[in-house]
Amino acid sequence: MIKRRKTTTVKVGSVKIGSSEPIVIQSMTKVHTTNINKCVKQINQLAQAGCRLVRLAVPTRKDTEAFAKIVDKVNIPLIADVHFSVSRAIEAIEAGAAKIRLNPGNIKNTKDIIKIIDAAKMHKTAMRIGVNEASIRDLKADDIPAAKRTALMVTELKKYIAIFEKQNFTQIVLSAKSTNPLRTIETNRKIAESFDYPMHLGLTHAGLPEDAEVPSAVTLGALLAEGIGDTIRISVAGNPVQEALIAKKILIPLGLYQRQQPELIVCPTCGRTEINVVALAKKIKKALKDEHKPIRIAVMGCIVNGPGEATDADLALCAGKNKAVIYRHGKKVATAEKDNIINVLLEELAKL
Ligand code: SF4
Repeated sequence: MIKRRKTTTVKVGSVKIGSSEPIVIQSMTKVHTTNINKCVKQINQLAQAGCRLVRLAVPTRKDTEAFAKIVDKVNIPLIADVHFSVSRAIEAIEAGAAKIRLNPGNIKNTKDIIKIIDAAKMHKTAMRIGVNEASIRDLKADDIPAAKRTALMVTELKKYIAIFEKQNFTQIVLSAKSTNPLRTIETNRKIAESFDYPMHLGLTHAGLPEDAEVPSAVTLGALLAEGIGDTIRISVAGNPVQEALIAKKILIPLGLYQRQQPELIVCPTCGRTEINVVALAKKIKKALKDEHKPIRIAVMGCIVNGPGEATDADLALCAGKNKAVIYRHGKKVATAEKDNIINVLLEELAKL
């Protein structure tokens, strides 16, 4: 089991972020915030897919006005991304944002930051201080070594946090994003060593879903396995629901998210295989699509190594040439003829 890094706890509306809480999956809407109906629809889809927080961009006053209306129409806390604008930050706080995201590279004037902190205190709004490598002016040149980039991002964050701490504002979540997986890992490790605030993880501009999934899993997986990370967002150029689905795929194998459906383990097949394992596994997956027991089912292609390899499974099916043997928690419980394998498996599943 992963030992989470100990952090403070930050309240984002009804959702708590920090080491004593489950890791929170979040995403962003991808339609204009002024399009209230589409935003509400996306937020509801994201909540259904497992997001407990959703962020919306509020580039104009019309967006913060729409944000206030959206807050009243959904059941999960919302975060406002205010980019460069102090006015948008204060409007979003007043509009009911449970958290706002500030980028130290965008809002730099201390008096402005204090104005935002005062409004956040009044409305009990949390803040994410999120440095982004691309928005730090000193990092624009190509020839800056990786270690210096990491150090500059941490320094930028430290300076900003000092302003918040001087105002006794500690409802802070930290993040440092880059498009580079190794720098993201290294920078987040340094931040985790330096502060005890919860951390938001993400790899920025990761790409199209099929290209973003592996780099995001490698980057976030490395940090999460070290106990770093309290809320995550997977950035993909595509439907935001895919972000939530990829986030769950990363968290589940690490034991950081409760699976909502059976897990299907399938042997890779080899020269011993005497049945079409892939076709069988696909049929089983289809038959399980409405099943919500968080159990592990193994589909193995032989009765030689299959039972041994499947001992960790709640149910294991070891298929030979014309029949399959079914094991429950390692004990043989049934035999099924080739055409009846799925029915017998489902009968055994019902008994669990
Ligand atoms: S379970 Fe059997 S068929 Fe599948 S890979 Fe292992 S040895 Fe080969």
